[in-house]
Amino acid sequence: MKITVLGAGGMGSRFALMLHRAGNEVTLVDGWQANIDAIRKDGLQADFNGERVTAKLPIYSPAEIDRIGDQADLIIVFTKSNQLTTMFDAVRPIINAETYVLCLLNGIGHEDVLEKYVAKDHLLLGITMWTAGMTGPGHVTLVGNGNVELQNFAPAGKNFAQQVVQVFDDAGLNATYSDNVKYAIWRKACVNGTLNSLCALLACNIGELGKTHGIEGLLKAIIAEFAAVGAHEGLQLDQAEIYQHVAATFTSDIADHYPSMYQDLVINHRKTEIDFINGTVWRKGEQYGVPTPDCQLLTQLIQMKEALVKAK
Ligand code: NAD
Repeated sequence: MKITVLGAGGMGSRFALMLHRAGNEVTLVDGWQANIDAIRKDGLQADFNGERVTAKLPIYSPAEIDRIGDQADLIIVFTKSNQLTTMFDAVRPIINAETYVLCLLNGIGHEDVLEKYVAKDHLLLGITMWTAGMTGPGHVTLVGNGNVELQNFAPAGKNFAQQVVQVFDDAGLNATYSDNVKYAIWRKACVNGTLNSLCALLACNIGELGKTHGIEGLLKAIIAEFAAVGAHEGLQLDQAEIYQHVAATFTSDIADHYPSMYQDLVINHRKTEIDFINGTVWRKGEQYGVPTPDCQLLTQLIQMKEALVKAK
């Protein structure tokens, strides 16, 4: 399949590398010039489960988009949520009536943005449990296992979504076709909307968060806000199951892990995805007349911290 990956960060590089190794024709688009320069000079370099792997992949900046030749069958988006609009404004010329777009970003409501650029029946949404980290421009560390769940946003996209599942599976990405990916997206957003925002604000890891006083009540209150807003979008989130799912991480093998929002905000002073996690629950809550005081407070505190550290 001819695939263009928008955002050659940790996750974009993982998917690009694995799909390239499986014989797909992969092109990268990225907005970080140092990353583009490094990949052009030395290829995309990965520590891939302990093996050093290099892939020579074409990479373009959004400003060079007219240099991309044939159109892709599939565009996979792996920018951060807050880079989505800027990226899609720039790459409009490579999206035509035949192009499918798959969004696997964390967070909720990305379809509201993407619908402005791609027809609903060419939009695919999903989640992934794969992980990845950048260690510098052109360098990524890819360890462990993961999977992908995806689904077409409108019924007409089903055949193509199933083709993508097959292509991903052939590349070792463990993909499945989901009958209700929206539920999976919101369930994962509950994890991010509790662990990510709280660990970033408290500057702690997941295990330490689990030992704080009153954490159970706070998690349940945040999840209840997601559920109350989700109900207005036809979702019946199983709050007890989601609470257990989140709480189980406190004593799991990721207890020592500092979530990505902590790394973005505290370590790298980068803008976080808060607006697309708790921030979206707050915004949609206002729209539906549902009070979301915890999501509002978390969003505002993270935004204040972003301003204090001059996050970019
Ligand atoms: P990332 O930060 O690694 O990359 C996103 C974009 O930011 C890329 O264009 C990259 O080139 C750019 N970038 C990275 N570091 C930069 C720097 N220092 N200066 C300037 N630009 C920089 O993001 P990611 O981790 O690949 O995440 C992409 C999406 O996937 C997000 O929505 C994230 O929540 C989601 N996700 C990530 C993981 C993970 O383990 N990383 C797992 C599941 C979902």
